[in-house]
Amino acid sequence: ICRILFYCVMSFQDSVLICDEVDAVLNKILIDNGLKVSYEPEITAEQILEKISNFNIIIVRSRTTITKEMIDKADNCKIIARVGVGLDNVDQVAAKAKNIRVINAVEGAMNAVAELVLGFMLSLARQTGRGDRAVRDGKWLKKELKGTELRGKYLGIIGLGNIGKRLARLARGLNMNIIGYDVMPIDEEFAKEVGLMKADLSTLLQSSDYISIHVPLLDSTYHLLDAEKMSTMKKTAKIINTSRGGVVDEDALYEAIKNGTLGGAALDVFEKEPATGNKLAELDNVILTPHIGAQTKEAQSLAANVIGEKIIQILRGVI
Ligand code: NAD
Repeated sequence: ICRILFYCVMSFQDSVLICDEVDAVLNKILIDNGLKVSYEPEITAEQILEKISNFNIIIVRSRTTITKEMIDKADNCKIIARVGVGLDNVDQVAAKAKNIRVINAVEGAMNAVAELVLGFMLSLARQTGRGDRAVRDGKWLKKELKGTELRGKYLGIIGLGNIGKRLARLARGLNMNIIGYDVMPIDEEFAKEVGLMKADLSTLLQSSDYISIHVPLLDSTYHLLDAEKMSTMKKTAKIINTSRGGVVDEDALYEAIKNGTLGGAALDVFEKEPATGNKLAELDNVILTPHIGAQTKEAQSLAANVIGEKIIQILRGVI
Protein backbone atom coordinates (compact mmCIF):
# COMPACT_ATOMS: atom_id res chain seq x y z
CA ILE A 1 0.00 0.00 0.00
CA CYS A 2 2.85 2.37 0.88
CA ARG A 3 4.37 1.68 -2.53
CA ILE A 4 1.08 2.45 -4.32
CA LEU A 5 0.65 5.69 -2.33
CA PHE A 6 4.24 6.61 -3.13
CA TYR A 7 3.58 6.14 -6.86
CA CYS A 8 0.39 8.18 -6.66
CA VAL A 9 2.14 11.26 -5.29
CA MET A 10 5.42 10.74 -7.10
CA SER A 11 6.19 12.97 -10.08
CA PHE A 12 9.33 13.33 -12.18
CA GLN A 13 11.49 16.29 -13.03
CA ASP A 14 12.74 14.89 -16.30
CA SER A 15 12.34 16.83 -19.52
CA VAL A 16 11.04 15.29 -22.71
CA LEU A 17 11.53 16.30 -26.34
CA ILE A 18 8.82 15.02 -28.69
CA CYS A 19 10.21 15.35 -32.24
CA ASP A 20 7.29 14.09 -34.34
CA GLU A 21 3.52 14.39 -34.39
CA VAL A 22 2.09 11.95 -31.84
CA ASP A 23 -1.36 11.31 -30.35
CA ALA A 24 -2.24 13.90 -27.66
CA VAL A 25 -2.70 11.17 -25.07
CA LEU A 26 1.10 10.80 -24.80
CA ASN A 27 1.54 14.47 -23.84
CA LYS A 28 -1.18 14.07 -21.25
CA ILE A 29 0.32 10.98 -19.61
CA LEU A 30 3.75 12.63 -19.39
CA ILE A 31 2.48 15.98 -18.10
CA ASP A 32 0.12 14.31 -15.59
CA ASN A 33 3.18 12.57 -14.18
CA GLY A 34 5.05 15.83 -13.75
CA LEU A 35 7.38 15.62 -16.73
CA LYS A 36 8.31 18.77 -18.63
CA VAL A 37 7.36 18.27 -22.27
CA SER A 38 8.58 20.20 -25.34
CA TYR A 39 6.33 19.22 -28.22
CA GLU A 40 8.17 20.11 -31.45
CA PRO A 41 6.71 18.00 -34.28
CA GLU A 42 8.44 20.13 -36.95
CA ILE A 43 11.90 20.19 -35.35
CA THR A 44 14.83 19.85 -37.77
CA ALA A 45 17.90 17.64 -37.36
CA GLU A 46 20.07 20.74 -36.82
CA GLN A 47 17.77 21.99 -34.06
CA ILE A 48 17.81 18.55 -32.39
CA LEU A 49 21.62 18.58 -32.43
CA GLU A 50 21.62 22.02 -30.80
CA LYS A 51 19.31 21.17 -27.92
CA ILE A 52 19.40 17.40 -27.39
CA SER A 53 21.72 17.69 -24.40
CA ASN A 54 18.96 19.51 -22.45
CA PHE A 55 16.61 16.51 -22.51
CA ASN A 56 16.33 13.25 -20.59
CA ILE A 57 13.84 11.57 -22.90
CA ILE A 58 13.57 11.80 -26.69
CA ILE A 59 10.43 10.64 -28.49
CA VAL A 60 10.11 10.06 -32.25
CA ARG A 61 7.69 8.44 -34.64
CA SER A 62 8.75 8.06 -38.31
CA ARG A 63 9.77 11.52 -39.54
CA THR A 64 12.82 11.99 -37.32
CA THR A 65 15.97 9.88 -37.37
CA ILE A 66 18.04 9.83 -34.21
CA THR A 67 21.63 9.57 -35.46
CA LYS A 68 24.90 8.68 -33.73
CA GLU A 69 25.91 12.34 -34.00
CA MET A 70 22.80 13.32 -32.02
CA ILE A 71 23.30 10.56 -29.47
CA ASP A 72 26.93 11.60 -28.95
CA LYS A 73 25.61 14.97 -27.79
CA ALA A 74 22.73 13.52 -25.72
CA ASP A 75 24.64 13.58 -22.43
CA ASN A 76 21.54 13.64 -20.21
CA CYS A 77 19.41 11.23 -22.16
CA LYS A 78 18.00 8.13 -20.40
CA ILE A 79 15.37 6.94 -22.88
CA ILE A 80 14.78 7.16 -26.62
CA ALA A 81 11.23 6.08 -27.46
CA ARG A 82 9.72 5.24 -30.84
CA VAL A 83 5.93 5.53 -30.97
CA GLY A 84 5.73 2.60 -33.37
CA VAL A 85 7.27 -0.79 -34.10
CA GLY A 86 10.44 -0.67 -36.24
CA LEU A 87 13.51 0.92 -34.69
CA ASP A 88 15.39 1.57 -37.92
CA ASN A 89 15.26 5.35 -37.37
CA VAL A 90 17.22 5.15 -34.11
CA ASP A 91 20.94 4.32 -33.99
CA GLN A 92 20.56 1.56 -31.41
CA VAL A 93 24.27 0.72 -31.29
CA ALA A 94 25.18 4.31 -30.37
CA ALA A 95 22.36 4.42 -27.80
CA LYS A 96 23.47 1.18 -26.17
CA ALA A 97 27.07 2.40 -25.99
CA LYS A 98 25.78 5.42 -24.07
CA ASN A 99 23.56 3.32 -21.79
CA ILE A 100 20.37 4.85 -23.18
CA ARG A 101 17.24 2.65 -23.13
CA VAL A 102 15.55 2.40 -26.53
CA ILE A 103 11.88 1.43 -26.39
CA ASN A 104 9.09 0.91 -28.93
CA ALA A 105 5.41 -0.02 -28.98
CA VAL A 106 4.88 -3.26 -30.87
CA GLU A 107 1.28 -3.57 -29.74
CA GLY A 108 -0.02 -0.47 -31.54
CA ALA A 109 0.28 -1.51 -35.16
CA MET A 110 -0.70 -5.18 -34.97
CA ASN A 111 -4.33 -4.94 -35.97
CA ALA A 112 -3.92 -1.91 -38.23
CA VAL A 113 -1.29 -3.58 -40.43
CA ALA A 114 -3.15 -6.90 -40.50
CA GLU A 115 -6.36 -5.15 -41.61
CA LEU A 116 -4.42 -3.30 -44.33
CA VAL A 117 -3.20 -6.66 -45.66
CA LEU A 118 -6.77 -7.97 -45.73
CA GLY A 119 -7.78 -4.86 -47.67
CA PHE A 120 -4.90 -5.41 -50.11
CA MET A 121 -5.90 -9.04 -50.69
CA LEU A 122 -9.55 -8.14 -51.32
CA SER A 123 -8.53 -5.32 -53.59
CA LEU A 124 -6.08 -7.48 -55.59
CA ALA A 125 -8.67 -10.25 -55.91
CA ARG A 126 -11.34 -7.90 -57.28
CA GLN A 127 -9.08 -5.28 -58.92
CA THR A 128 -10.95 -2.46 -57.24
CA GLY A 129 -8.12 0.00 -57.90
CA ARG A 130 -8.25 -0.65 -61.64
CA GLY A 131 -12.05 -0.50 -61.65
CA ASP A 132 -12.02 2.82 -59.81
CA ARG A 133 -9.45 4.34 -62.17
CA ALA A 134 -11.44 3.14 -65.20
CA VAL A 135 -14.77 4.59 -64.00
CA ARG A 136 -13.08 7.92 -63.30
CA ASP A 137 -11.67 7.80 -66.86
CA GLY A 138 -15.19 7.22 -68.24
CA LYS A 139 -14.61 3.49 -68.96
CA TRP A 140 -16.90 0.62 -67.95
CA LEU A 141 -14.61 -2.46 -67.62
CA LYS A 142 -17.22 -4.87 -66.24
CA LYS A 143 -16.22 -7.83 -68.44
CA GLU A 144 -12.48 -7.37 -67.95
CA LEU A 145 -12.78 -7.17 -64.18
CA LYS A 146 -13.80 -10.72 -63.41
CA GLY A 147 -12.15 -11.38 -60.07
CA THR A 148 -11.55 -14.27 -57.72
CA GLU A 149 -12.61 -14.91 -54.12
CA LEU A 150 -10.37 -15.28 -51.08
CA ARG A 151 -12.36 -18.16 -49.63
CA GLY A 152 -10.39 -21.39 -49.94
CA LYS A 153 -7.24 -19.68 -51.27
CA TYR A 154 -3.83 -20.30 -49.73
CA LEU A 155 -2.29 -17.44 -47.78
CA GLY A 156 1.42 -17.87 -47.05
CA ILE A 157 2.59 -15.78 -44.11
CA ILE A 158 6.34 -15.24 -43.78
CA GLY A 159 7.11 -14.21 -40.18
CA LEU A 160 4.61 -15.26 -37.52
CA GLY A 161 5.27 -12.50 -34.97
CA ASN A 162 2.71 -10.00 -33.72
CA ILE A 163 1.39 -8.89 -37.11
CA GLY A 164 1.71 -12.24 -38.90
CA LYS A 165 -0.32 -13.93 -36.15
CA ARG A 166 -3.01 -11.26 -36.18
CA LEU A 167 -3.29 -11.59 -39.96
CA ALA A 168 -3.64 -15.37 -39.68
CA ARG A 169 -6.54 -14.95 -37.25
CA LEU A 170 -8.31 -12.42 -39.50
CA ALA A 171 -7.76 -14.44 -42.70
CA ARG A 172 -9.12 -17.53 -41.01
CA GLY A 173 -12.41 -15.64 -40.68
CA LEU A 174 -12.50 -15.43 -44.49
CA ASN A 175 -12.02 -19.21 -44.75
CA MET A 176 -8.55 -18.93 -46.25
CA ASN A 177 -6.02 -21.73 -45.76
CA ILE A 178 -3.01 -20.48 -43.84
CA ILE A 179 0.56 -21.61 -44.47
CA GLY A 180 3.20 -20.24 -42.11
CA TYR A 181 6.99 -19.96 -42.10
CA ASP A 182 9.18 -18.43 -39.42
CA VAL A 183 12.82 -18.87 -38.47
CA MET A 184 11.65 -19.32 -34.88
CA PRO A 185 9.44 -22.21 -33.76
CA ILE A 186 5.74 -21.45 -34.30
CA ASP A 187 3.58 -21.85 -31.21
CA GLU A 188 1.59 -25.16 -31.45
CA GLU A 189 -1.54 -23.85 -29.75
CA PHE A 190 -1.72 -20.87 -32.11
CA ALA A 191 -1.15 -23.12 -35.14
CA LYS A 192 -4.04 -25.32 -34.03
CA GLU A 193 -6.32 -22.35 -33.38
CA VAL A 194 -6.01 -21.00 -36.94
CA GLY A 195 -5.43 -24.34 -38.64
CA LEU A 196 -1.99 -23.15 -39.74
CA MET A 197 0.13 -25.47 -41.86
CA LYS A 198 3.79 -25.04 -41.00
CA ALA A 199 6.10 -25.17 -44.01
CA ASP A 200 9.61 -24.34 -45.13
CA LEU A 201 9.99 -21.22 -47.21
CA SER A 202 10.16 -22.93 -50.59
CA THR A 203 7.01 -25.00 -49.96
CA LEU A 204 5.19 -21.87 -48.82
CA LEU A 205 6.25 -19.97 -51.95
CA GLN A 206 5.25 -22.77 -54.31
CA SER A 207 1.85 -23.34 -52.70
CA SER A 208 0.47 -19.91 -51.87
CA ASP A 209 -1.97 -17.71 -53.77
CA TYR A 210 -1.11 -14.71 -51.57
CA ILE A 211 2.23 -14.24 -49.83
CA SER A 212 2.37 -11.68 -47.04
CA ILE A 213 5.67 -10.75 -45.43
CA HIS A 214 6.02 -9.78 -41.77
CA VAL A 215 9.72 -9.97 -40.92
CA PRO A 216 12.14 -7.25 -39.80
CA LEU A 217 14.67 -5.88 -42.30
CA LEU A 218 17.97 -7.56 -41.43
CA ASP A 219 20.99 -8.66 -43.47
CA SER A 220 19.34 -12.10 -43.56
CA THR A 221 15.99 -10.75 -44.83
CA TYR A 222 17.33 -8.26 -47.42
CA HIS A 223 15.80 -9.33 -50.78
CA LEU A 224 14.32 -12.38 -49.06
CA LEU A 225 12.03 -12.49 -52.08
CA ASP A 226 14.33 -12.15 -55.10
CA ALA A 227 14.04 -13.12 -58.79
CA GLU A 228 14.98 -16.74 -58.12
CA LYS A 229 12.36 -17.22 -55.40
CA MET A 230 9.72 -15.37 -57.41
CA SER A 231 10.31 -17.80 -60.28
CA THR A 232 9.15 -20.67 -58.03
CA MET A 233 5.78 -19.07 -57.20
CA LYS A 234 2.46 -19.65 -58.95
CA LYS A 235 1.97 -17.40 -61.98
CA THR A 236 -1.17 -16.04 -60.35
CA ALA A 237 0.44 -15.49 -56.93
CA LYS A 238 0.38 -12.03 -55.37
CA ILE A 239 3.02 -10.64 -53.04
CA ILE A 240 2.08 -8.27 -50.23
CA ASN A 241 4.79 -6.39 -48.37
CA THR A 242 3.87 -4.25 -45.36
CA SER A 243 7.07 -5.05 -43.45
CA ARG A 244 10.03 -3.02 -44.67
CA GLY A 245 11.29 -1.96 -48.09
CA GLY A 246 14.28 -4.05 -49.10
CA VAL A 247 12.74 -7.36 -48.04
CA VAL A 248 11.35 -7.69 -51.58
CA ASP A 249 13.58 -7.04 -54.59
CA GLU A 250 11.48 -4.37 -56.34
CA ASP A 251 13.29 -4.67 -59.71
CA ALA A 252 12.68 -8.43 -59.76
CA LEU A 253 9.05 -7.87 -58.75
CA TYR A 254 8.56 -5.37 -61.57
CA GLU A 255 10.02 -7.77 -64.16
CA ALA A 256 8.00 -10.75 -62.88
CA ILE A 257 4.66 -8.91 -62.95
CA LYS A 258 5.42 -7.24 -66.28
CA ASN A 259 6.32 -10.60 -67.84
CA GLY A 260 3.24 -12.29 -66.39
CA THR A 261 5.18 -14.74 -64.21
CA LEU A 262 3.56 -13.25 -61.08
CA GLY A 263 -0.05 -12.18 -60.60
CA GLY A 264 0.39 -8.87 -58.80
CA ALA A 265 1.55 -7.14 -55.66
CA ALA A 266 0.64 -4.67 -52.96
CA LEU A 267 3.38 -2.68 -51.30
CA ASP A 268 3.15 -0.30 -48.35
CA VAL A 269 6.92 -0.07 -47.86
CA PHE A 270 9.73 0.60 -50.33
CA GLU A 271 13.49 0.53 -50.62
CA LYS A 272 13.39 4.27 -51.21
CA GLU A 273 10.68 6.31 -49.45
CA PRO A 274 8.87 8.46 -50.45
CA ALA A 275 8.36 6.08 -53.37
CA THR A 276 6.91 8.65 -55.75
CA GLY A 277 8.14 7.87 -59.26
CA ASN A 278 8.52 4.14 -58.49
CA LYS A 279 8.31 2.21 -61.78
CA LEU A 280 5.94 -0.36 -60.22
CA ALA A 281 3.27 2.34 -60.60
CA GLU A 282 3.29 1.60 -64.38
CA LEU A 283 1.68 -1.79 -63.71
CA ASP A 284 -2.08 -2.23 -63.39
CA ASN A 285 -2.19 -5.15 -60.97
CA VAL A 286 -0.06 -3.41 -58.36
CA ILE A 287 -1.25 -1.41 -55.35
CA LEU A 288 1.12 1.12 -53.81
CA THR A 289 0.44 2.96 -50.55
CA PRO A 290 2.64 5.51 -48.72
CA HIS A 291 3.70 3.48 -45.63
CA ILE A 292 0.30 3.73 -43.96
CA GLY A 293 0.33 0.38 -42.15
CA ALA A 294 0.06 1.91 -38.69
CA GLN A 295 -1.72 5.07 -39.79
CA THR A 296 -5.01 4.55 -38.01
CA LYS A 297 -6.45 6.60 -35.16
CA GLU A 298 -6.62 3.48 -33.02
CA ALA A 299 -3.04 2.36 -33.68
CA GLN A 300 -1.59 5.82 -33.02
CA SER A 301 -3.53 6.22 -29.82
CA LEU A 302 -2.63 2.72 -28.58
CA ALA A 303 1.08 3.23 -29.40
CA ALA A 304 1.07 6.63 -27.62
CA ASN A 305 -0.56 5.09 -24.54
CA VAL A 306 1.91 2.19 -24.50
CA ILE A 307 4.94 4.51 -24.81
CA GLY A 308 3.61 6.89 -22.13
CA GLU A 309 3.06 4.05 -19.68
CA LYS A 310 6.43 2.43 -20.47
CA ILE A 311 8.29 5.70 -19.85
CA ILE A 312 6.59 6.19 -16.49
CA GLN A 313 7.30 2.58 -15.49
CA ILE A 314 10.97 2.91 -16.44
CA LEU A 315 11.30 6.13 -14.44
CA ARG A 316 9.68 4.36 -11.49
CA GLY A 317 12.17 1.54 -11.87
CA VAL A 318 9.43 -1.02 -12.44
CA ILE A 319 10.67 -2.24 -15.83
P1 NAD B 1 7.70 -9.28 -34.76
O1 NAD B 1 9.09 -9.06 -34.24
O2 NAD B 1 6.60 -9.49 -33.78
O3 NAD B 1 7.71 -10.52 -35.77
C1 NAD B 1 8.69 -10.71 -36.75
C2 NAD B 1 8.79 -12.21 -37.00
O4 NAD B 1 9.65 -12.42 -38.12
C3 NAD B 1 9.39 -13.01 -35.83
O5 NAD B 1 8.54 -14.06 -35.46
C4 NAD B 1 10.72 -13.50 -36.37
O6 NAD B 1 11.12 -14.75 -35.83
C5 NAD B 1 10.41 -13.61 -37.85
N1 NAD B 1 11.57 -13.62 -38.72
C6 NAD B 1 12.74 -12.94 -38.61
N2 NAD B 1 13.54 -13.23 -39.65
C7 NAD B 1 12.88 -14.12 -40.42
C8 NAD B 1 13.19 -14.80 -41.63
N3 NAD B 1 14.36 -14.64 -42.25
N4 NAD B 1 12.25 -15.64 -42.14
C9 NAD B 1 11.08 -15.85 -41.51
N5 NAD B 1 10.74 -15.23 -40.36
C10 NAD B 1 11.63 -14.39 -39.83
O7 NAD B 1 7.39 -8.02 -35.70
P2 NAD B 1 5.96 -7.42 -36.09
O8 NAD B 1 5.52 -6.47 -35.04
O9 NAD B 1 5.07 -8.53 -36.48
O10 NAD B 1 6.38 -6.56 -37.37
C11 NAD B 1 6.72 -7.18 -38.59
C12 NAD B 1 7.25 -6.16 -39.59
O11 NAD B 1 6.26 -5.17 -39.86
C13 NAD B 1 8.50 -5.39 -39.13
O12 NAD B 1 9.38 -5.26 -40.23
C14 NAD B 1 7.96 -4.02 -38.80
O13 NAD B 1 8.95 -3.02 -38.93
C15 NAD B 1 6.88 -3.89 -39.85
N6 NAD B 1 5.84 -2.89 -39.57
C16 NAD B 1 5.40 -2.12 -40.61
C17 NAD B 1 4.40 -1.17 -40.39
C18 NAD B 1 3.88 -0.32 -41.52
O14 NAD B 1 3.51 0.82 -41.27
N7 NAD B 1 3.77 -0.85 -42.71
C19 NAD B 1 3.88 -0.99 -39.10
C20 NAD B 1 4.35 -1.80 -38.08
C21 NAD B 1 5.32 -2.76 -38.32
